[in-house]
Amino acid sequence: MSEFSEIAISVLGSTGSIGRQTLDVCRNLGIRPVALTAHSNLQLLEKQAREFLPQLVVVAEESLASSLKVALADTPVQVKAGPQALEEAATLPQAQSVVGAIVGMAGLAPVLAAAKAGKTIALANKEPLVSAGALVTQMAREHGARIIPVDSEHSAIFQCLHGGERRDVAKILLTASGGPFFGKSREELKAVTAADALRHPNWSMGAKVTVDSATLMNKGLEFIEAMWLFDLAPDQIEVVIQRQSIVHSGVFFADGSLIAQMGVPDMRTAIQYALTYPRRYPVRGVPPLNLAQIGALTFATPDRSTFTCLAACEAAARKGGLYPAAVNGANEGAVALFLEGKITFLEIGELVQGALEELNLPREITLASVLEADAAGREYARQFYRNRGSK
Ligand code: NAD
Ligand code: MG
Repeated sequence: MSEFSEIAISVLGSTGSIGRQTLDVCRNLGIRPVALTAHSNLQLLEKQAREFLPQLVVVAEESLASSLKVALADTPVQVKAGPQALEEAATLPQAQSVVGAIVGMAGLAPVLAAAKAGKTIALANKEPLVSAGALVTQMAREHGARIIPVDSEHSAIFQCLHGGERRDVAKILLTASGGPFFGKSREELKAVTAADALRHPNWSMGAKVTVDSATLMNKGLEFIEAMWLFDLAPDQIEVVIQRQSIVHSGVFFADGSLIAQMGVPDMRTAIQYALTYPRRYPVRGVPPLNLAQIGALTFATPDRSTFTCLAACEAAARKGGLYPAAVNGANEGAVALFLEGKITFLEIGELVQGALEELNLPREITLASVLEADAAGREYARQFYRNRGSK
């Protein structure tokens, strides 16, 4: 028994990169996952269910649930499928915290449900905040839910904000690794393949976020994510490349001081902090930071004319309303097309920029209008591909 065995959590997206690392943290500290969910990786989900014996596991579809039910018939684990079951996992009364580790907008409904249930939400899944930040944060406020960021940059900012008073915050430093194509020109990026983009220098992540890191879309999404998490205006966020991914982000205060958080690039630190906040404990498997060995920390301004996704997100943040949702939807569509080899790396940026400039969206933000803007972004991506084919 550990001091954490009383802590029970739901892990939404337990088979993904963040989900697996969350379960590693659970193993380290003895935290009990009481619900696990996945889209369709039955083999891994079964293995996780056997190890942790959660009360509930959820998959995307009924047909998947039937075979998992058979596989887990000798255990007390309940198996369910579909959006309703996913919301049940997100609101399970036994779970104090919910880890949001689904990728993309698929995570919106369960995150809203967890907020409505007043849960503490350890949130990695950035797309719901980008698209529906107004709704998610309002729901959390109304129901006393606390969102603790898991995204390493936002975890860093969250930690650094403890170093001063909110009214003395001047601006936020949002660091970016620059990804595998840092320093490359548009000409050099013309022939980039999905395999090239999936090789990230510092972080090991799911496919979508890895492509987003290569295009700097990830930083653009994080820019908008930071606005909602910390109630900031676009002009209060400065993106700087930090090649080694050691300075995870920080806060500039009124006196010019920058308080930044540093650490080895390993998501388990941020995940564990979100689950044990405000306490800190050793994170198993993460080596200590050895600055002398790293030698130098280098910083640079991002190249927005090559990595247009970052500029498009910053512009969407300024335009506000439903534009972040549309840009995010367009990017989800674009990344899927790129991974299928249907559009080029540079076209992801063109497509996202095009969605920002060409879509006409209403002002009112409701769940329905956010979903429509998201769908309009995805449709824009499909059209882009169709037009490209007929060129
Ligand atoms: P991943 O692709 O490795 O895993 C995604 C998880 O979501 C899987 O468990 C999958 O089964 C589930 N899922 C996917 N589609 C689903 C759907 N339609 N319905 C239900 N479940 C679905 O992704 P990841 O790298 O773990 O990233 C998860 C989220 O965390 C993303 O939003 C990402 O931007 C964010 N994030 C990731 C990292 C990282 O290091 N991986 C860092 C910061 C933030
Ligand atoms: Mg991040």
